[in-house]
Amino acid sequence: MRSLPPPNLSARTVYRTCISKAIPRYKRRLDALEQAVVDAADEFEAAASAAALHTLKDLAKKPVDEADRTQLTNTYINRLVPDRAAGNALYNALKKVRHKICPLCGHRDVSTLDHQLPKMKYPLLAVVPINLVPACGICNKLKGEHVPKSASEQTLHPYYDDLADQQWLFSRLKWIESCPPEITYFIRPPEGADSVLAARVVRHFQMFCLAELYGPNAVREMSNIRGILRGMNAAGRHKFLLLAESSVLVDKDAGGQNHWKRALFQTLAGDSRYLEGGFDQF
Ligand SMILES: [Zn+2]
Repeated sequence: MRSLPPPNLSARTVYRTCISKAIPRYKRRLDALEQAVVDAADEFEAAASAAALHTLKDLAKKPVDEADRTQLTNTYINRLVPDRAAGNALYNALKKVRHKICPLCGHRDVSTLDHQLPKMKYPLLAVVPINLVPACGICNKLKGEHVPKSASEQTLHPYYDDLADQQWLFSRLKWIESCPPEITYFIRPPEGADSVLAARVVRHFQMFCLAELYGPNAVREMSNIRGILRGMNAAGRHKFLLLAESSVLVDKDAGGQNHWKRALFQTLAGDSRYLEGGFDQF
């Protein structure tokens, strides 16, 4: 749930670099597909800018020839990713994120590129830079071959969607008698939010299992700060948690408004039972 600046590489540059060392009989076929790749990148750009990737159904049918489709997907698999591939330097450049955090989950390290529209279904987009998003391996697997069938089924695209100005992610602390308390995460759209965007954020949250990721991390964080809180009174704990929340908020690279730690510290600072001694149960 973090935004990223789009890559400063054109589809033509990446495609040409990747196919530059292809053996002649494949090279001729791939050269002939170059303009179709560039046109597909333009179509993708227009649709992604309008949050309308679900409208690109016709692009999935191109090219018709199965051998061409295979060569295009192989261009990603064999000509961009491997260490010795012609496009490997570009693969590494596309994967590079300043803070190294996966923008899809906002937590794990980037280890791969995720196709916003899957390469097997959209071979013309296999090496188009704006379709390639740095991601962790788990997010990449969770998304798999997903193709949105409607506007609201689109997961967030880090180059085109930016939630940083408003808080969407919240947590809730539930006290249960005779059981350990529970911390849960959920999406609450800001007042006046666009209904399609709200549905997309929920879809994204569910697709990448973010409640299941953030909940256990929050419990670990509460365990980490328990010792610090023991040395304070309730007012001191309140102040400490507000400071912790603001330190996440000011660091936009760390996720800012929608970092799971922000939602955690915010909830804890506002929970009198936690401040009065409940923190010791974590
Ligand atoms: Zn991730």
